[in-house]
Amino acid sequence: MNKQDIFQTVDSLQSVFEDCVSTLFTHPETGGHEKFSANYLRQILSSAGFTIHDQAKMEHTFYAEYGQGKPVIAILGEYDALPGLSQKPISHQEPVQVGGAGHGCGHNLLGSAALVAALAIQQWLAKENMSGTIRFYGCPEEELLSGKVKMLRLGMFEGCDLALSWHPMDINCAYEESYLANISVRFVFRGKTAHAAVAPWQGRSALDAVELMNVGVNYLREHVIDAARIHYSTQCDNIPNIVPDLASSWYFIRAPHMSDVLSILDRVEKVAKGAAMMTETTVDIDVEYGCWEMKKAKIMTDICYENLKEAPFPPFTQEELDFAKAIQMSVDPQIVENKNHLYGTSQRIMNSCVEDRSFWKTVFMTASTDTGDVSFNMPMSTFSSACWPVGIGPHTWQAAACAGSSLGAKGAFYAAHVLAGQAFDFLQEPEYVQAAQKEFNENKSIQYKSILNHFDS
Ligand SMILES: [Zn+2]
Repeated sequence: MNKQDIFQTVDSLQSVFEDCVSTLFTHPETGGHEKFSANYLRQILSSAGFTIHDQAKMEHTFYAEYGQGKPVIAILGEYDALPGLSQKPISHQEPVQVGGAGHGCGHNLLGSAALVAALAIQQWLAKENMSGTIRFYGCPEEELLSGKVKMLRLGMFEGCDLALSWHPMDINCAYEESYLANISVRFVFRGKTAHAAVAPWQGRSALDAVELMNVGVNYLREHVIDAARIHYSTQCDNIPNIVPDLASSWYFIRAPHMSDVLSILDRVEKVAKGAAMMTETTVDIDVEYGCWEMKKAKIMTDICYENLKEAPFPPFTQEELDFAKAIQMSVDPQIVENKNHLYGTSQRIMNSCVEDRSFWKTVFMTASTDTGDVSFNMPMSTFSSACWPVGIGPHTWQAAACAGSSLGAKGAFYAAHVLAGQAFDFLQEPEYVQAAQKEFNENKSIQYKSILNHFDS
């Protein structure tokens, strides 16, 4: 079998793929609740002959394995949706269910492409009777940045030699490094209630503490590295005539490296304690979860890039391009123009070319993902595929609309070919696996420690 044969095997799975895209799209489940999606994928994989491993004992996560011996290749699948982004696959904003969840990050596409790539590789392994194992990872809670961190802690990735991942976006690009490390932390202040007019001096306001903390952190911004991101959301449910005894601020702290995040967290904690001291309240600091940046993986990215170029890109129909144009016109034209400028194009609707090998530096992703933690445990590649028009960002109704359309499905089907192509290369050429692992082992200047373990000790 050669690379074209494996691409044709992916093609033969088109109806499985399309069913999966639309089934996950029409059953959007937010992080922590992906029971239907996980069971749906389990069922397909199990009837195809994969063995299901459920050691997490959580309905929404599993991995499915087929084959024997080395190498063991993991393909990462996600399927969680986002709250409030319910959207029909049409070119204006209209939810399927008002306030409901929707696939605004295209994880229905992500999971479906990963599934089909794993199925194609399985068919090949079955035919050739060769050494090699393919695993599909059912990874939940990506939007909470916690699923893979928990799975790693449970040992679900033990035995894997390398991992393949991807994400829907508006360009086709291989990323050698990417993503910001991130920590999610809640600061809960407690004070004393009092009547806000009759005896305010008897009260100690937890809300005052939250406000002072937020002001302090906003001053701190000037004195942290430029690439850091700090954002928060504040909660206090009291009515104004009661001095509030409970208020909290939920922070995300992001930076290029986990070490930067931890040192900024240390300073944010000092600000929180100062705010508590000023207001005579107490503060509880609860680090909920955190994920690492993506570890540099040059050899993995080389192979990924070659497959981006080799895989067939499905041509878009005029109807799909008209849909893409209408979606693109729903955002500020300046955003589209800036994006086109960044991509070195003009007035492009859909990206159908593969960006240069080093383009990831220009479009470095400043989001965070729990995929980063996987990249510190084994060699991992990642790439993006154009599933929505130039200028559209993830976590929008426009991205959700595309994720339910044939436009998004075509971009994801291309991604399935790229994933299968990479897995094929690693199974066919064991020396690629050894080279990727050698690079991974030589680059151990940063010691990985799960954030879940970090705060236990
Ligand atoms: Zn996503």
